[in-house]
Amino acid sequence: MNGSRVLVLNSGSSSVKYQLLDMADGSRPASGIVERIGEGPVTDHAAALKQVADELAAKGLGLDSPELAAVGHRVVHGGTRFTEPTLITDEVVGEIEKLIPLAPLHNPANVTGIKVARSLRPDLPQVAVFDTAFHSTIPEAAARYAIDVATADRWGVRRYGFHGTSHAYVSRATAKLLGKEPAEVNTIVLHLGNGASASAVRGGTCVETSMGLTPLEGLVMGTRSGDIDPAAIFHLSRVGGMSTDEIDTLLNKRSGLAGLCGDNDMREIGRRMGEGDRAAQLAFDIYIHRLRKYVGAYTAVLGRVDAIAFTAGVGENSAAVREAAMRGLTAFGIEVDGVRNALRSAAARLISTEASRVAVAVVPTDEELEIASQTFDLVSA
Ligand code: AMP
Repeated sequence: MNGSRVLVLNSGSSSVKYQLLDMADGSRPASGIVERIGEGPVTDHAAALKQVADELAAKGLGLDSPELAAVGHRVVHGGTRFTEPTLITDEVVGEIEKLIPLAPLHNPANVTGIKVARSLRPDLPQVAVFDTAFHSTIPEAAARYAIDVATADRWGVRRYGFHGTSHAYVSRATAKLLGKEPAEVNTIVLHLGNGASASAVRGGTCVETSMGLTPLEGLVMGTRSGDIDPAAIFHLSRVGGMSTDEIDTLLNKRSGLAGLCGDNDMREIGRRMGEGDRAAQLAFDIYIHRLRKYVGAYTAVLGRVDAIAFTAGVGENSAAVREAAMRGLTAFGIEVDGVRNALRSAAARLISTEASRVAVAVVPTDEELEIASQTFDLVSA
């Protein structure tokens, strides 16, 4: 292998995000997004990938450039089969396709991205990095739902967890911020973006996370409900006459902050709260209540918490969410410093007081860097 660059591809249902990272000097020579796949001139994922290739070529950074060492693909669901970054072969593509029933909204686009990228550069090593992988260490007691074991196993119903690339990166970066090795630190990571998830990481190993079989479980999100009594689904079906697909859409697209107040953007919710908007305030309160429940639960799971890390769009930017989530937790050894919390910065930073036993931190996530590093490590091994 000669090159030092990795192209990271994140093929979503309606967009393809890409970033070219140079692992030798840490630079990022190119990045971009192709959106609205299927709506306009970009008719499908093949056309989107072609556009990515063209945009790179226009900058003299085409897929054929000798500096390119590998392509790293984000893949949402690795099931129990994939717990590590994996060099892509025909067999691996087939295995990822077999996981489509577990992630019907995500894996098909990931697979298409892989196939098209491989067809464009068949000789180039390509690596799949799975969103579920970091959570594969969660013990059985936390990963299993309390349902009939044979049925659960037959259909693969268990907690897989998602955003693993982010939880892995942020938990390590938090240890670094504290000047410690990951093995020395117990951390609660709060990934609060449009999707949101919490994880409990003991000494660098994930032991619990809030997303489950799918990314629907857990925290209140931009448009997803998070935790809900599963019997609500039977009720909506039997009494409300809703179809499975309608309920799926309700819980994934018309719930969370958007379902509660009509907005899924925390900035807009903050603005509305400032005007005394009751629905926005209630949506915020429900969001915070759920978050605090998880912080309490994961404190009990870990026994000793050294750090709580806020990351992703909301976690990195909303001082109001961080303040409300951490308020009144001095009995837990958690104390946020108002001035530190209000400071805006792109760097990882502490926001807790000197007296706080638990370090509270804002740690910007970098999933592209994590995917590129895992990819590069694998192909240069
Ligand atoms: P992500 O999925 O990580 O890109 O996060 C996207 C979400 O972050 C948006 O939907 C907003 O709710 C939130 N967000 C982004 N910037 C800010 C900000 N300055 N203040 C509050 N929330 C923000």
